[in-house]
Amino acid sequence: MFDVQKIRSDFPALDQQVYGKPLVYFDNGATTLKPKVVIDTLQEIYSKRNSNVHRGIHYLSLRMTEEYEEARKRVRKFINARSEKEIIFTNGTTASINTISSTFGEEFVKEGDEILISAMEHHSNIVPWQILAQRKAAILKVIPMNDQGEIVMEKLDELMHEGIRILALNHVSNALGTINPVKEIIQKAHERNIPVLLDGAQAIPHGDVDVQDLDCDFYAFSGHKVYGPNGIGVLYGKEEWLEKLPPWQGGGDMVEKVSFEKTSFAELPLKFEAGTANYPAAIGMAKALDYIDALGKDQIAAYEKELLDYATLKLSAIDGLKIFGAAANKISIVSFLLEGIHQEDTGMVLDKMGLALRTGTHCAEPVMTRFGISGTVRASMVFYNTKEEIDKLYEGLIKLRQMFR
Ligand code: PLP
Repeated sequence: MFDVQKIRSDFPALDQQVYGKPLVYFDNGATTLKPKVVIDTLQEIYSKRNSNVHRGIHYLSLRMTEEYEEARKRVRKFINARSEKEIIFTNGTTASINTISSTFGEEFVKEGDEILISAMEHHSNIVPWQILAQRKAAILKVIPMNDQGEIVMEKLDELMHEGIRILALNHVSNALGTINPVKEIIQKAHERNIPVLLDGAQAIPHGDVDVQDLDCDFYAFSGHKVYGPNGIGVLYGKEEWLEKLPPWQGGGDMVEKVSFEKTSFAELPLKFEAGTANYPAAIGMAKALDYIDALGKDQIAAYEKELLDYATLKLSAIDGLKIFGAAANKISIVSFLLEGIHQEDTGMVLDKMGLALRTGTHCAEPVMTRFGISGTVRASMVFYNTKEEIDKLYEGLIKLRQMFR
């Protein structure tokens, strides 16, 4: 059984009031709250066990290195990568994508080549490719989406050809909630020898991700969106690709031998981890992954689907409320606008009722442009949210509408 009240007691931040009202946290797409086990792990490391990794021969350093490498094993298992060599710790999804746009871009993209992304990307999966396209005089092409917020598959077929060097696509849209049919898309891409990078920032917290089954070439996600600490993220890359790529940043830990004449680089995965790693956060993230596995990814997905269906039904019944993103396959995100009320006004009034929702473009401005709007209000729900909280959102919106009348 999925005991939500017990789960809620694991998240200290849920036990507070804002403006005298119990906090309803619906901004999980931006960042998730942390379970006590993650907070305690960080506190224990900083109070007792802290020591730099891969450097010292003393007890604390060796122990911390062991824990850090255990965290890498934990991530490998969580996404079912073939080897730990394929797990690079970065400081987040953005850094993971930039690592590939820079290194893959340097090595494999030349003038006139095409880079393919979709119309529903987060800025983190647009701008790095734009910068690369400018640097290499390459061409950025965009797969369109339909009114439901789904990729237009016929257009994808038209756009995909051998001149495309890489396809970079989000697994799940943060602005609309769409779960893209990435396995099918990867298959199509591979038939044309196009490698695929998946931005998994919004997918990892909501269900099972198996990189071998998906057969993606690169996968990026952030620790802070999966109940882990800030300042840590993961770049998964197939070993054969990572071996072929040059390092991104230079510094300590990513080298084997250094002289003024020549430097040789460390083996994978350290080749891509220059400087002191954020090992406390990596270890904290591994605890968050344990926490998710203990709850059960399937149970999480089933409960969050219940929340999505309930919220969609409830909010759609509000006069003048329009939901953006009606894909057949969605995570628990409801992005909406109330007719005649600016999204920021909605967000501000709801805030005073204790409801934390995100407003604006959600770092996906082209999505808003596609729908001819300047932004939306977004409720992103996870396993510690409840139907009662959705009822509060519903009541808040009804009140808001009356106020604005
Ligand atoms: N990609 C998607 C789909 C996101 O939702 C986000 C954050 O909202 C990012 C990338 C960027 O993640 P980060 O800021 O943790 O690097």
